[in-house]
Amino acid sequence: MENYICETCGTQYPASYRPPESCPICDDDRQYIGSQGQKWTTMAALRATHTNPLKEEEPSLTGIGSEPGRHERRLASRVGF
Ligand SMILES: [Zn+2]
Repeated sequence: MENYICETCGTQYPASYRPPESCPICDDDRQYIGSQGQKWTTMAALRATHTNPLKEEEPSLTGIGSEPGRHERRLASRVGF
């Protein structure tokens, strides 16, 4: 079984033998589905083609991004030290 991930919004779904019929997030009118229709991936497939490098943005602030990606990154800060 796999935990399928929607390629458009990145939502990961509970383990199943087949990809879900649709992604409820992308089915919402405020979201979209790509011109090639609903596409799914898995963590194993993403690990083969992507990395998540950590970058020290400044002291106690670490950036985490995905490459290749949409140039988005998450920030993790250490507080209280
Ligand atoms: Zn989706």
